[in-house]
Amino acid sequence: MKKVMNLKAKFDNISGKIKSLDRKKRNIIAISMISVLLLGAIGVGASVISSADSKEITPKVAPISAYSIMVDGKEIVKVSSENDAEIVLNQVKNNYITAGAQVKEVDFAEEVTVTNSAINVNEEEILTTQEAITLILTGSKEPKTYVVQGGDTVWDVAALNNLSSFELMDMNPGVSDEISIGQTLNLYQIKPYLTVKTTEVVVATEKIEYGIKYEYTTNLYKGQSQVKSAGNYGSKIVTAEVVKENGIVVQSTPISEEIAAEPLTQISFVGTKTIPIATGTGQLGVPVTHIEISSAYGSRGGGRHEGVDLRQPRGSAIMAADDGTVTKASYSGSYGNLIIINHGNGIQTYYGHCDSMNVSVGEQVTKGQVIGTVGATGNATGNHLHFEVRINGVSVNPFNYM
Ligand SMILES: [Zn+2]
Repeated sequence: MKKVMNLKAKFDNISGKIKSLDRKKRNIIAISMISVLLLGAIGVGASVISSADSKEITPKVAPISAYSIMVDGKEIVKVSSENDAEIVLNQVKNNYITAGAQVKEVDFAEEVTVTNSAINVNEEEILTTQEAITLILTGSKEPKTYVVQGGDTVWDVAALNNLSSFELMDMNPGVSDEISIGQTLNLYQIKPYLTVKTTEVVVATEKIEYGIKYEYTTNLYKGQSQVKSAGNYGSKIVTAEVVKENGIVVQSTPISEEIAAEPLTQISFVGTKTIPIATGTGQLGVPVTHIEISSAYGSRGGGRHEGVDLRQPRGSAIMAADDGTVTKASYSGSYGNLIIINHGNGIQTYYGHCDSMNVSVGEQVTKGQVIGTVGATGNATGNHLHFEVRINGVSVNPFNYM
């Protein structure tokens, strides 16, 4: 009820002012005023009166003082004083200064001016210094963020906020698919209104790579190597002039370098010993205890199967097919763990997908000796031994030699 009383009082007050108008106009105005006042829109009511051609009833509104921050001639934001504008611009600059850095120069890349814009200013357009800083730095008045909850995925967060996961990633440079609880994600595109160009003198410690010196030794086989003494990184203190735009380095010019610690060269042994090849009997034995072929030698699925696949439970023993010397016992792509035995006279046998390997390079083995166990390492479907026989490097059907 109190509100209605207040409205009536205002109506009476304005009614007094319109007494000088003729009766007809007065009635129109009075009817307009009633409807407007009942809606409680006093401000709109005032404009109705001014449209009735009466200077006498125009309410006196004091012009609101405001200052516009202009970027390249375009207004970005209004604040209430020149001092506020200065605070805002200084804070924007300070936002991009590295703590503890020796700052040589801070400037805007754009032309920034502050102008008085006291006429026709709507009070709501004037921002506080903090609001103005946020707007200039982010391009958004109310930058929305999201704090990651347990079980959230990038896709969940995007969907929850009507974004595609691509858009969300774009809004969060440097954020990967792996997000963690408590991490804050931007839900808006950062588009700063100003580019702060800083020139700083930065002092940083950098790593110096170490070199490797090789020593040849007959104690190791060809292709083998061993570290004799480990190397160590050195360090240097680099002073550089760094130019950044909104915190991102665009140019770095070294001014001076001082070595703090020299790197230590690594010394490595490289083997030169030739692997002596033990000559086999020439008659190959079966490498597993019983034969069950899961894939035969020869053409397979448009390609070529270079060996025979012998199905065996995992952990079953693999035996050397003949006397010889191990020339390989390590992981090798689709073969998985691979053992190769050279039997001399151009004959080699391959044992692929091993679960474990009991021999090493250079070791002499005898026919029937257990060299490893069956597994499914590398590209294998189920546990089996991929057994291959090569004569002068060319694969042949193993069953013709067993
Ligand atoms: Zn195979």
